[in-house]
Amino acid sequence: MAESATIKMAQLARDLREEGHDVISLSLGEPDFDTPDHIKAAAQKALDEGYTKYTPVPGLVELREAIKTKFKRDNNLDYELNQIVVSNGAKQSIANLSLALLDEGDEVIILAPYWVSYYEIIRLSGATPVIVSAGIDQEYKVTADQIEAAITDKTKLILYSSPCNPTGSVYSEAELKSFADVIASHDDIYIISDEIYEYINFGDRHISIGSFDNVKDRTITVNGFAKGFAMTGWRLGYMGAPAWIAAACAKIQGQFTSGATAFGQKAAAYALLSDMTPTFEMREAFRARRDMLIGLLEDIPGMKVNRPTGAFYIFPDISDFFGKSDGSMTINNADDFCEYLLHKAHVAAVSGSAFGADNCFRISYAASEEQLRESARRIKEALAVLK
Ligand code: PMP
Ligand code: GLU
Repeated sequence: MAESATIKMAQLARDLREEGHDVISLSLGEPDFDTPDHIKAAAQKALDEGYTKYTPVPGLVELREAIKTKFKRDNNLDYELNQIVVSNGAKQSIANLSLALLDEGDEVIILAPYWVSYYEIIRLSGATPVIVSAGIDQEYKVTADQIEAAITDKTKLILYSSPCNPTGSVYSEAELKSFADVIASHDDIYIISDEIYEYINFGDRHISIGSFDNVKDRTITVNGFAKGFAMTGWRLGYMGAPAWIAAACAKIQGQFTSGATAFGQKAAAYALLSDMTPTFEMREAFRARRDMLIGLLEDIPGMKVNRPTGAFYIFPDISDFFGKSDGSMTINNADDFCEYLLHKAHVAAVSGSAFGADNCFRISYAASEEQLRESARRIKEALAVLK
C-alpha cells in the first residue's frame, strides 16, 4: 500500500520547518480555523456529564437522529437510523464500505482527479480501480458518457467527491442526474457519493445524487465533520446507506474500532442542529481567499489555473513547465515540480500524480491571506528562472 501523499507532504514540510527552514505548507486539506467555541463547549459538557464510555457501534442514537434530520433538511434524503453509521472520520466510512462491498475481481470506477486515499482503499479490498478522467478543459468533470463507456459486467461501485478534492469542481444537478440515469440502467452498481465538502460550496445549492429516485436505493452518502465544522482532529464521519450495507459496515467497525468517541459524538449532534453561522463565515473566508489566490496564480506565466466552485483547493495544470530547468533541477513531471517548489520556494504543495492527474498540482488555500500572498510571490519568483 502506498503512503498518503497529502500526509507525507505535510510531514515533509513540518520536518523542514523543524530544521529551521521557513516553509509555507499548502499541502494538507485542513481548515486553518479552530472548531467553533459552541461545539467545543458541547464536548466539554458531555465529558462532565459522563460521556466517557463505549457507545453503540454505529453511533449514539442522539447523533444518528441529528444526522437523519440533517440528511432530510439539507439533502432531501430519507435515511432511517438503521441506515446511518458514524465512524472515525469519513476516511473510515469509505474504508468500511470498501471492505463490506468489494471482492477480488470487482471493478470500481473512480472519477479522476480523485482524492488520494480512494485508490489505495479500493486496492486494499482486492478490487480493481478503473480510472475515468477529465482534464482542465472539462473543468475536471467527467461526463455520463465516459462513465457508461467504462462500465463492464464486473463494475460494482462508482466513487467520487463533489465538491471535489483535489479540483474544487462541483457537479451540477443536471450532471448528477445524467450519472444517475446511466447507473440506474445497469443492475447491481452502487454509488459512493463523498459529500464532505458540502458546506464549502460557492455556487448553486448542494445536490446529493441519492435524492434521485432511480438511484436512491443504491447510493451511499458519505459526509463528516472535518471540513464544514473545522473538526479534522475529532475524527468523526458518517454514512447513510441501504440498511444491509450499513449493517455490514457496523459489523466490520465492531471488530475494528467499536465506534467513535462518545463525547465527540454528543458535540457532533449538537453541531448539526445548532447555529451554523460559523460554518457559513468560514465558507465566505474561503471564497475570498480563492478569489485572491486565483488572481495571483493567473499572473504566473505558464500556469493554467482552474476556477473551483467548492472545497478549498486550486488545481492548476503545470504541463508548460515540463522539460524546463533552473540549471540544477530539471522538471520532468508534477512530482519534480512540487519538489522544486519545496526546495527552491519553500512552499509545500501536492503533486497531481497522487490524485491521478500527472499534469497538475494541488494547492490548499486553507491558510492565511498573508501566507497565500507570500507563497504566490515565492512560486512566481522560483518559476521565473526556469528555461
Ligand atoms: N473524503 C475527502 C474527499 C477528503 O478530502 C477527506 C479529507 N480528509 C476525507 C474524505 C476524509 O475525511 P475525514 O477527516 O473525516 O476522515
Ligand atoms: N483530505 C485532506 C487532504 O486531502 C487531509 C489529508 C488526508 O486525509 O489525506 O489533504
